[in-house]
Amino acid sequence: MLRKSSRAPRRAAAFGNEERRGRWVRIGTRLAAVDVLNRRNRPSPAWLAILMVAALSACRPVEPAPPPVPPPAITGLAVTPSHLTLAVLETYQPQVMAVLSDGTQRDVSGTAAGTAYRVDAHAPAHVREDGLLVIAEDAVTLDQFDLRVSHGGFDIELPVTIRNTLAKTVSAGGPDGLPVITNYRGLDALVNKERNLPPAYVPPDLVIVDVPHTGEPKEMREEAARSLEELFDAARTDGWLLYAASGYRSYESQAAIFERNVALYGLEQASRFSARPGQSEHQTGLAMDVTSAAVGYRLVQEFGRTGEGRWLAENAARFGFVIRYPEDRELVTGYAYEPWHLRYLGAPLAAALVEMELTLEEYLAD
Ligand SMILES: [Zn+2]
Repeated sequence: MLRKSSRAPRRAAAFGNEERRGRWVRIGTRLAAVDVLNRRNRPSPAWLAILMVAALSACRPVEPAPPPVPPPAITGLAVTPSHLTLAVLETYQPQVMAVLSDGTQRDVSGTAAGTAYRVDAHAPAHVREDGLLVIAEDAVTLDQFDLRVSHGGFDIELPVTIRNTLAKTVSAGGPDGLPVITNYRGLDALVNKERNLPPAYVPPDLVIVDVPHTGEPKEMREEAARSLEELFDAARTDGWLLYAASGYRSYESQAAIFERNVALYGLEQASRFSARPGQSEHQTGLAMDVTSAAVGYRLVQEFGRTGEGRWLAENAARFGFVIRYPEDRELVTGYAYEPWHLRYLGAPLAAALVEMELTLEEYLAD
Protein backbone atom coordinates (compact mmCIF):
# COMPACT_ATOMS: atom_id res chain seq x y z
CA MET A 1 0.00 0.00 0.00
CA LEU A 2 2.75 2.37 0.98
CA ARG A 3 4.60 1.78 -2.33
CA LYS A 4 1.52 2.46 -4.40
CA SER A 5 0.72 5.77 -2.80
CA SER A 6 4.35 6.98 -3.19
CA ARG A 7 4.26 6.33 -6.96
CA ALA A 8 1.04 8.08 -7.68
CA PRO A 9 2.24 11.77 -7.68
CA ARG A 10 5.19 10.95 -9.92
CA ARG A 11 2.82 9.54 -12.52
CA ALA A 12 0.64 12.66 -12.34
CA ALA A 13 3.66 14.84 -13.05
CA ALA A 14 4.48 12.73 -16.09
CA PHE A 15 0.94 13.23 -17.36
CA GLY A 16 1.39 16.99 -16.85
CA ASN A 17 4.44 17.04 -19.11
CA GLU A 18 2.63 15.12 -21.77
CA GLU A 19 -0.17 17.59 -21.66
CA ARG A 20 2.28 20.52 -22.13
CA ARG A 21 3.90 18.78 -25.05
CA GLY A 22 0.51 18.17 -26.57
CA ARG A 23 -0.28 21.89 -26.45
CA TRP A 24 2.88 22.79 -28.41
CA VAL A 25 2.04 20.20 -31.01
CA ARG A 26 -1.39 21.78 -31.40
CA ILE A 27 0.11 25.30 -31.84
CA GLY A 28 2.56 23.94 -34.41
CA THR A 29 -0.26 22.29 -36.27
CA ARG A 30 -2.20 25.52 -36.23
CA LEU A 31 0.78 27.43 -37.67
CA ALA A 32 1.20 24.78 -40.30
CA ALA A 33 -2.47 25.11 -41.07
CA VAL A 34 -2.08 28.76 -42.08
CA ASP A 35 -2.66 28.91 -45.76
CA VAL A 36 0.27 30.20 -47.69
CA LEU A 37 -1.96 31.34 -50.54
CA ASN A 38 -5.49 32.63 -50.32
CA ARG A 39 -8.21 31.74 -52.69
CA ARG A 40 -7.05 34.28 -55.30
CA ASN A 41 -3.62 32.70 -55.36
CA ARG A 42 -2.01 35.61 -53.53
CA PRO A 43 -0.13 35.37 -50.24
CA SER A 44 -2.63 35.17 -47.46
CA PRO A 45 -2.63 38.03 -44.86
CA ALA A 46 -1.70 35.59 -42.13
CA TRP A 47 1.30 34.43 -44.07
CA LEU A 48 2.32 38.01 -44.86
CA ALA A 49 2.13 38.83 -41.15
CA ILE A 50 4.44 35.93 -40.31
CA LEU A 51 6.93 37.05 -42.97
CA MET A 52 6.85 40.63 -41.68
CA VAL A 53 7.52 39.56 -38.10
CA ALA A 54 10.42 37.43 -39.32
CA ALA A 55 11.82 40.30 -41.38
CA LEU A 56 11.55 42.77 -38.53
CA SER A 57 13.26 40.46 -36.09
CA ALA A 58 16.07 39.91 -38.64
CA CYS A 59 16.56 43.69 -39.00
CA ARG A 60 16.83 44.36 -35.28
CA PRO A 61 19.92 46.51 -34.69
CA VAL A 62 22.90 44.51 -33.42
CA GLU A 63 23.99 45.49 -29.95
CA PRO A 64 27.39 47.28 -30.24
CA ALA A 65 30.33 45.21 -28.88
CA PRO A 66 32.04 46.78 -25.88
CA PRO A 67 35.15 48.80 -26.99
CA PRO A 68 38.33 46.63 -26.87
CA VAL A 69 40.58 47.25 -23.88
CA PRO A 70 43.88 48.62 -25.31
CA PRO A 71 46.90 46.39 -24.44
CA PRO A 72 49.31 47.92 -21.91
CA ALA A 73 51.90 50.09 -23.67
CA ILE A 74 55.64 49.39 -23.61
CA THR A 75 57.47 51.94 -21.47
CA GLY A 76 61.01 50.51 -21.73
CA LEU A 77 63.22 47.43 -22.01
CA ALA A 78 65.20 45.38 -19.51
CA VAL A 79 67.94 42.82 -20.32
CA THR A 80 69.32 40.03 -18.16
CA PRO A 81 72.17 39.82 -17.34
CA SER A 82 73.15 43.50 -17.36
CA HIS A 83 76.74 42.74 -18.43
CA LEU A 84 78.19 39.84 -20.44
CA THR A 85 81.63 38.22 -20.25
CA LEU A 86 82.23 35.89 -23.19
CA ALA A 87 85.10 34.07 -24.92
CA VAL A 88 85.99 33.46 -28.58
CA LEU A 89 83.41 31.51 -30.59
CA GLU A 90 80.88 31.57 -27.74
CA THR A 91 77.27 32.33 -28.63
CA TYR A 92 74.69 34.04 -26.44
CA GLN A 93 71.23 35.55 -26.42
CA PRO A 94 70.25 37.60 -23.38
CA GLN A 95 66.72 37.59 -21.97
CA VAL A 96 64.89 40.75 -23.08
CA MET A 97 61.80 41.95 -21.20
CA ALA A 98 59.40 44.67 -22.37
CA VAL A 99 58.43 46.78 -19.34
CA LEU A 100 54.68 47.55 -19.62
CA SER A 101 52.54 50.49 -18.47
CA ASP A 102 50.54 48.25 -16.12
CA GLY A 103 53.69 47.44 -14.16
CA THR A 104 54.18 43.95 -15.60
CA GLN A 105 56.89 42.69 -17.95
CA ARG A 106 56.64 40.56 -21.09
CA ASP A 107 59.41 38.32 -22.41
CA VAL A 108 60.30 39.52 -25.92
CA SER A 109 63.59 37.61 -26.34
CA GLY A 110 64.47 36.55 -29.88
CA THR A 111 63.84 37.96 -33.33
CA ALA A 112 60.59 35.94 -33.52
CA ALA A 113 59.23 38.24 -30.79
CA GLY A 114 60.05 41.31 -32.91
CA THR A 115 63.29 42.14 -31.09
CA ALA A 116 66.33 43.27 -33.11
CA TYR A 117 69.98 42.82 -32.09
CA ARG A 118 73.06 44.46 -33.60
CA VAL A 119 76.70 45.26 -32.93
CA ASP A 120 78.96 47.91 -34.47
CA ALA A 121 80.93 46.90 -37.57
CA HIS A 122 84.25 47.02 -35.67
CA ALA A 123 83.02 44.84 -32.78
CA PRO A 124 84.76 41.41 -32.51
CA ALA A 125 81.39 39.68 -32.92
CA HIS A 126 78.39 39.40 -35.21
CA VAL A 127 74.67 38.76 -34.80
CA ARG A 128 73.15 35.77 -36.55
CA GLU A 129 69.81 36.01 -38.39
CA ASP A 130 68.01 34.49 -35.41
CA GLY A 131 69.44 37.15 -33.11
CA LEU A 132 72.18 35.00 -31.54
CA LEU A 133 75.39 36.88 -30.67
CA VAL A 134 78.53 35.07 -31.95
CA ILE A 135 81.99 36.11 -30.69
CA ALA A 136 84.70 36.26 -33.39
CA GLU A 137 87.59 33.80 -33.28
CA ASP A 138 90.12 36.64 -33.01
CA ALA A 139 88.36 38.50 -30.17
CA VAL A 140 90.94 39.48 -27.55
CA THR A 141 90.66 39.45 -23.77
CA LEU A 142 89.55 42.90 -22.51
CA ASP A 143 87.95 43.81 -25.87
CA GLN A 144 84.70 45.62 -25.15
CA PHE A 145 81.63 46.42 -27.23
CA ASP A 146 77.88 46.91 -26.85
CA LEU A 147 75.13 44.57 -27.97
CA ARG A 148 72.28 46.90 -28.98
CA VAL A 149 68.78 45.50 -28.41
CA SER A 150 65.68 47.18 -29.95
CA HIS A 151 62.00 46.42 -29.48
CA GLY A 152 58.81 48.47 -29.87
CA GLY A 153 60.72 51.70 -30.56
CA PHE A 154 62.93 51.29 -27.48
CA ASP A 155 66.67 50.53 -27.33
CA ILE A 156 68.93 49.18 -24.64
CA GLU A 157 72.69 48.53 -24.69
CA LEU A 158 74.27 45.47 -23.14
CA PRO A 159 78.04 45.85 -22.51
CA VAL A 160 80.10 42.80 -23.48
CA THR A 161 83.69 42.10 -22.34
CA ILE A 162 85.88 39.38 -23.85
CA ARG A 163 87.73 37.04 -21.51
CA ASN A 164 89.44 34.10 -23.17
CA THR A 165 90.00 31.88 -20.17
CA LEU A 166 92.30 28.86 -20.43
CA ALA A 167 89.46 26.34 -20.43
CA LYS A 168 87.44 28.16 -23.08
CA THR A 169 90.26 28.37 -25.64
CA VAL A 170 91.50 24.81 -25.93
CA SER A 171 90.31 21.66 -27.66
CA ALA A 172 91.66 18.10 -27.54
CA GLY A 173 91.73 17.62 -31.29
CA GLY A 174 95.42 18.13 -32.10
CA PRO A 175 97.93 15.68 -33.59
CA ASP A 176 98.70 12.79 -31.21
CA GLY A 177 95.74 13.94 -29.09
CA LEU A 178 97.60 17.09 -27.99
CA PRO A 179 95.45 19.97 -26.71
CA VAL A 180 95.28 22.68 -29.38
CA ILE A 181 94.21 26.26 -28.73
CA THR A 182 91.16 27.58 -30.56
CA ASN A 183 92.04 31.31 -30.49
CA TYR A 184 95.44 31.07 -32.20
CA ARG A 185 94.57 34.06 -34.40
CA GLY A 186 93.97 36.26 -31.33
CA LEU A 187 96.55 38.67 -29.89
CA ASP A 188 96.04 36.96 -26.51
CA ALA A 189 96.66 33.41 -27.80
CA LEU A 190 98.26 31.48 -24.95
CA VAL A 191 100.74 28.90 -26.21
CA ASN A 192 102.79 26.81 -23.78
CA LYS A 193 103.80 23.23 -23.03
CA GLU A 194 100.15 22.25 -22.47
CA ARG A 195 98.65 24.35 -25.24
CA ASN A 196 99.68 23.79 -28.86
CA LEU A 197 99.24 25.75 -32.04
CA PRO A 198 97.91 23.84 -35.05
CA PRO A 199 101.06 22.66 -36.91
CA ALA A 200 99.87 24.22 -40.18
CA TYR A 201 99.12 27.63 -38.63
CA VAL A 202 100.87 30.54 -40.33
CA PRO A 203 99.83 34.04 -39.17
CA PRO A 204 97.80 35.76 -41.91
CA ASP A 205 99.52 39.16 -41.81
CA LEU A 206 103.28 38.67 -41.41
CA VAL A 207 105.45 41.65 -42.36
CA ILE A 208 109.14 42.52 -42.10
CA VAL A 209 109.81 44.56 -38.98
CA ASP A 210 111.69 47.75 -39.82
CA VAL A 211 114.18 47.75 -36.90
CA PRO A 212 117.90 47.04 -36.43
CA HIS A 213 118.44 43.27 -36.27
CA THR A 214 120.98 40.50 -36.17
CA GLY A 215 121.16 38.12 -39.15
CA GLU A 216 118.22 38.06 -41.54
CA PRO A 217 115.35 40.62 -41.33
CA LYS A 218 112.69 39.55 -38.81
CA GLU A 219 108.97 39.02 -39.37
CA MET A 220 105.99 39.64 -37.09
CA ARG A 221 102.26 40.12 -37.48
CA GLU A 222 101.57 43.61 -38.74
CA GLU A 223 100.12 45.16 -35.56
CA ALA A 224 102.96 43.75 -33.44
CA ALA A 225 105.57 44.87 -36.01
CA ARG A 226 104.35 48.49 -36.04
CA SER A 227 104.28 48.56 -32.22
CA LEU A 228 107.79 47.09 -31.99
CA GLU A 229 109.09 49.79 -34.37
CA GLU A 230 107.62 52.44 -32.04
CA LEU A 231 109.18 50.72 -29.03
CA PHE A 232 112.65 50.59 -30.66
CA ASP A 233 112.33 54.29 -31.63
CA ALA A 234 111.42 55.23 -28.05
CA ALA A 235 114.37 53.22 -26.67
CA ARG A 236 116.77 54.94 -29.06
CA THR A 237 115.38 58.33 -28.03
CA ASP A 238 116.23 57.36 -24.43
CA GLY A 239 119.75 56.32 -25.51
CA TRP A 240 119.37 52.52 -25.78
CA LEU A 241 120.08 50.66 -29.01
CA LEU A 242 118.06 47.47 -29.30
CA TYR A 243 118.41 44.70 -31.88
CA ALA A 244 115.79 42.21 -33.00
CA ALA A 245 117.27 38.70 -32.84
CA SER A 246 114.39 36.29 -33.57
CA GLY A 247 110.81 36.91 -34.74
CA TYR A 248 108.33 34.62 -36.50
CA ARG A 249 109.34 30.98 -36.76
CA SER A 250 107.44 28.34 -38.69
CA TYR A 251 106.51 24.99 -37.11
CA GLU A 252 109.23 23.31 -39.22
CA SER A 253 112.01 25.72 -38.26
CA GLN A 254 111.03 25.36 -34.56
CA ALA A 255 111.24 21.57 -34.95
CA ALA A 256 114.79 21.91 -36.32
CA ILE A 257 115.82 24.28 -33.47
CA PHE A 258 114.41 21.98 -30.79
CA GLU A 259 116.16 18.92 -32.25
CA ARG A 260 119.47 20.78 -32.34
CA ASN A 261 119.09 21.93 -28.70
CA VAL A 262 118.21 18.42 -27.53
CA ALA A 263 121.33 17.10 -29.30
CA LEU A 264 123.50 19.77 -27.61
CA TYR A 265 122.02 19.91 -24.07
CA GLY A 266 119.84 16.82 -23.62
CA LEU A 267 116.02 16.74 -23.53
CA GLU A 268 115.52 17.96 -19.94
CA GLN A 269 117.82 20.99 -20.15
CA ALA A 270 116.72 21.89 -23.69
CA SER A 271 113.05 21.88 -22.58
CA ARG A 272 113.77 24.67 -20.06
CA PHE A 273 114.59 27.22 -22.75
CA SER A 274 113.62 25.72 -26.09
CA ALA A 275 110.06 25.02 -27.21
CA ARG A 276 108.82 21.93 -28.98
CA PRO A 277 107.30 22.64 -32.41
CA GLY A 278 103.73 23.90 -31.99
CA GLN A 279 104.51 25.16 -28.49
CA SER A 280 106.56 28.23 -29.41
CA GLU A 281 105.17 31.75 -29.15
CA HIS A 282 107.38 32.59 -32.12
CA GLN A 283 104.97 30.62 -34.35
CA THR A 284 102.20 33.11 -33.41
CA GLY A 285 104.09 35.97 -35.08
CA LEU A 286 103.62 37.95 -31.86
CA ALA A 287 107.00 37.32 -30.18
CA MET A 288 110.42 38.91 -30.68
CA ASP A 289 113.69 38.17 -28.98
CA VAL A 290 115.62 41.37 -28.36
CA THR A 291 119.29 41.88 -27.53
CA SER A 292 122.01 44.53 -27.51
CA ALA A 293 125.76 45.09 -27.93
CA ALA A 294 126.19 45.02 -24.13
CA VAL A 295 125.71 41.22 -24.11
CA GLY A 296 127.39 40.62 -27.46
CA TYR A 297 124.01 40.29 -29.22
CA ARG A 298 123.38 36.99 -27.39
CA LEU A 299 120.16 35.86 -25.67
CA VAL A 300 121.34 35.54 -22.09
CA GLN A 301 119.86 36.33 -18.68
CA GLU A 302 122.51 39.04 -18.08
CA PHE A 303 120.59 41.12 -20.61
CA GLY A 304 118.01 41.77 -17.87
CA ARG A 305 120.62 43.68 -15.84
CA THR A 306 121.81 45.89 -18.71
CA GLY A 307 120.44 49.38 -19.34
CA GLU A 308 118.65 48.07 -22.44
CA GLY A 309 117.12 45.15 -20.51
CA ARG A 310 115.92 47.38 -17.67
CA TRP A 311 114.48 49.94 -20.08
CA LEU A 312 112.61 47.13 -21.85
CA ALA A 313 111.12 45.76 -18.61
CA GLU A 314 109.92 49.22 -17.59
CA ASN A 315 108.53 50.40 -20.93
CA ALA A 316 107.41 47.38 -22.98
CA ALA A 317 103.79 47.52 -21.75
CA ARG A 318 103.37 51.08 -23.09
CA PHE A 319 103.71 49.54 -26.56
CA GLY A 320 101.55 46.47 -25.87
CA PHE A 321 104.42 44.06 -25.02
CA VAL A 322 105.33 42.07 -21.89
CA ILE A 323 108.43 40.17 -20.77
CA ARG A 324 106.63 36.86 -21.22
CA TYR A 325 108.88 34.68 -19.02
CA PRO A 326 109.71 36.69 -15.89
CA GLU A 327 112.16 35.71 -13.19
CA ASP A 328 110.99 33.09 -10.63
CA ARG A 329 107.90 32.09 -12.64
CA GLU A 330 109.26 28.93 -14.29
CA LEU A 331 106.71 26.76 -12.49
CA VAL A 332 103.89 28.83 -13.98
CA THR A 333 105.15 29.51 -17.52
CA GLY A 334 107.25 26.38 -18.00
CA TYR A 335 110.27 28.48 -18.98
CA ALA A 336 113.26 29.92 -17.15
CA TYR A 337 113.70 33.70 -17.01
CA GLU A 338 113.97 35.20 -20.52
CA PRO A 339 114.45 38.98 -20.21
CA TRP A 340 114.88 39.13 -24.02
CA HIS A 341 111.60 37.48 -25.07
CA LEU A 342 108.93 40.09 -25.82
CA ARG A 343 105.38 39.08 -26.47
CA TYR A 344 102.80 41.37 -28.04
CA LEU A 345 99.37 41.35 -26.35
CA GLY A 346 98.01 44.77 -27.27
CA ALA A 347 98.19 47.73 -24.90
CA PRO A 348 95.12 47.06 -22.67
CA LEU A 349 96.06 43.46 -21.82
CA ALA A 350 99.79 44.19 -21.45
CA ALA A 351 99.00 47.04 -19.04
CA ALA A 352 96.68 44.80 -17.00
CA LEU A 353 99.32 42.06 -16.66
CA VAL A 354 102.04 44.50 -15.57
CA GLU A 355 99.75 46.27 -13.12
CA MET A 356 98.69 42.99 -11.49
CA GLU A 357 102.21 41.48 -11.78
CA LEU A 358 100.75 38.35 -13.36
CA THR A 359 101.92 36.08 -16.15
CA LEU A 360 99.54 35.40 -19.04
CA GLU A 361 98.85 31.93 -17.56
CA GLU A 362 97.84 33.45 -14.20
CA TYR A 363 95.78 36.25 -15.72
CA LEU A 364 93.74 33.89 -17.93
CA ALA A 365 93.31 31.19 -15.27
CA ASP A 366 89.65 30.15 -14.99
ZN1 LIG B 1 111.79 33.96 -27.71
